[in-house]
Amino acid sequence: MALQPIIMHLDGSCRKGEIGSSLPPTDQLVSIDQPVGSGFKAKNLAVDVRTIQESLNKIAPMHGGPKVKLDVDGKCGPKTNKAITDFQVQQFGIKGADGLIEPGKQTIQRINQLLFSSLPVDPTTNEKIRVQLIAHIGLVAKAIHAAQANLMLALGPPSTVDLGRGRAIDRLDRHFALNALNPVQREKATRDILNVFNLYQQCLLLPPELELGFLGTGAFVADPTGDHRIAFAFANGFFRKGEIEDRRKIPMDRIYLGRRAFFALTDSELCAFIMLHEMAHFVGFPDKSYILDEGRGWFTDDTIKKLTTNQRLHNADSYAAFATECRTASANKPPYVKASNTSR
Ligand SMILES: [Zn+2]
Repeated sequence: MALQPIIMHLDGSCRKGEIGSSLPPTDQLVSIDQPVGSGFKAKNLAVDVRTIQESLNKIAPMHGGPKVKLDVDGKCGPKTNKAITDFQVQQFGIKGADGLIEPGKQTIQRINQLLFSSLPVDPTTNEKIRVQLIAHIGLVAKAIHAAQANLMLALGPPSTVDLGRGRAIDRLDRHFALNALNPVQREKATRDILNVFNLYQQCLLLPPELELGFLGTGAFVADPTGDHRIAFAFANGFFRKGEIEDRRKIPMDRIYLGRRAFFALTDSELCAFIMLHEMAHFVGFPDKSYILDEGRGWFTDDTIKKLTTNQRLHNADSYAAFATECRTASANKPPYVKASNTSR
């Protein structure tokens, strides 16, 4: 059987599957100046309301678009308000349905994730994407370096001066449950994790893949298939140089970020977390076993707490979360980390 990529879908879940493209294209990101919808915050400028009406009309009902197309009249009446709420319920559930679309917030982001172009992008757009990607890579690089420093400290000898070794070991215990191991196993596991992050670092140093026509920043490229998924990578893709995926004829030694979905996200912290997550799938464990998704979330979430040491060593979010804590020096769960069990 052909090797399938591990795909991160719009809801943040990761599953193996085919890369496809199913949504209608639009050539530019949708944006509004003032809130649209119901409630006291809504300004409902005619031009903004028209933008939302047009955008929702382009979204298929299965994704929460209106079953009957809205009149594009710039007036936010009962039908438009219902269409906004229906879209939010479909995408975010009842709790996420406040009936209001605000500039730059999650509803407009999701509309863009669903609509952002699948067509070949013009050089100006391409340059914008490249600049956005490089901005996130700064955070990713910091997280990798912080993780490496933390691991070196944990591997080093005990010191009478407090260099933070205790804290470094505590982090490994919380994210990877290394406290369940004996000293010999612990040292091996710590070295294995360090090897994973050394490979992460090499991902940032891969030469640009110019023939893909994109970005050229380490292992990361914009998804040339125009897929609406957030991101995908092939398991151990780092070691698959020269291998080509059958169906779409794309190299397996790259990490693909969705032009519709990933690049519509404006939260750099979230983007960096997603990139750290994908890198774990991409590099794999030192013994060449795969790092997949055993559970999504932070070490304080039940989805992670129930995992054994070995499962965490093979769990992408454990690496992303550990590196994030090393970078921020905070054990608090960031708001963008979502807990979920993963179907395999
Ligand atoms: Zn994943």
